[in-house]
Amino acid sequence: MSVTSNDFDEQEQEAIKNFRKYLMIPSVHPNINYDKCVEFLQEQADDIGLPCDMYTAVQGKPIVIITWLGTRPELPAVMLNSHMDVVPVYEDKWTHKPFDADMDDEGNIYARGSQDMKNVGIQYLEAIKRLKGLSVKLKRTIHVTFVPDEEIGGEDGMGKFVESDYFKKLNIGVAFDESMASSNDDFITFFGERSTWVFHIHCTGIVGHASNLVDNTAAQKLQFVINKLLNFRESERGKLKTDKNLIISDVTSINLTQIKGGIQANVIPPEFIATFDCRVPVTVDHNEWANTIEQWCKEAGEGVWVEYELKQPRVPVTLLNHSNPYWGALKTAAEELGIKLRTIICPGSTDAKYIRRVGLPAFGFSPMNNTPLLLHGHDEYLNVNVFLRGITIYCKIIETVGNIE
Ligand SMILES: [Zn+2]
Repeated sequence: MSVTSNDFDEQEQEAIKNFRKYLMIPSVHPNINYDKCVEFLQEQADDIGLPCDMYTAVQGKPIVIITWLGTRPELPAVMLNSHMDVVPVYEDKWTHKPFDADMDDEGNIYARGSQDMKNVGIQYLEAIKRLKGLSVKLKRTIHVTFVPDEEIGGEDGMGKFVESDYFKKLNIGVAFDESMASSNDDFITFFGERSTWVFHIHCTGIVGHASNLVDNTAAQKLQFVINKLLNFRESERGKLKTDKNLIISDVTSINLTQIKGGIQANVIPPEFIATFDCRVPVTVDHNEWANTIEQWCKEAGEGVWVEYELKQPRVPVTLLNHSNPYWGALKTAAEELGIKLRTIICPGSTDAKYIRRVGLPAFGFSPMNNTPLLLHGHDEYLNVNVFLRGITIYCKIIETVGNIE
């Protein structure tokens, strides 16, 4: 059976139109010009009849804030966040143009950003439009925020935003952000993240002619360090194999991603530098792990040290118990919708880390179930029915969370 526009009512057709329009803006890395996104979002806000403001911490990297005032604006507000940027494409690997937002006969809408995460940005706005249309009034103020640069770390977007006076004045109580598609009936909900560490291990040693077997070379030390770290990697892989309840974000991942050093085949080089990407779970004592790496460098011999390029702090998870009323409200909304939330620690990294870092609860929730995981992949698409259901789901969530006393 094929999907045609007759299958949708007027409201749905408008939502699909807006979704596709947003997808057609190529806000793709690198060097994004966000003007078209800002213009589009301003139009959307006008259309819904909501004020739209802009905050800029770094030139050319605007944050758009669309606000729906609550009847009790003194209560902490609800933030509905999404990022405007998308990752690059290998266009020749796509069967549809990545910024045409084509819909095929099955209702699959193809575009970069259809899952990550222009879908969610539009779902927030369409849900609010629907609630307003039904004359619903919420107690809490809702701020729908659209941020830049999430896909390149978010430092100049959400990173700076949470530190600003502007943000403090918004008096945010809870934030919603992205999660990812789930291949079964469940809806994946993120409540925490691992910390990303990127470090370079410098191994220095004796220089000489490569026809000799001199001791104390950079390579010997490099071998020691790599063995230690990759053996540790194997033990983490072992944990995943033996305990099927564990997922990748429950363990420490570590990967050797670069090795640099040497100038010529017959010269023993003075230094090798090995780069590792490591993701540290919240359950791991960060100091202890750093000490272990330090210790291995020491054991490797003289002239071996670790240099950190990135060492994200440990950020406590958002609590999923009765002490967190926002979690209670989200759970209630899910029960009333008859949907099952699968709460996990995010395997990657999102802007929610910045929100949790300033002590606020944050949930990652992109309502996509029975959908192949295509974020950052070729032929990224979202089925129109999944997209529309997400609006219904967000209507319920916004109403429930927005009415917490
Ligand atoms: Zn994303």
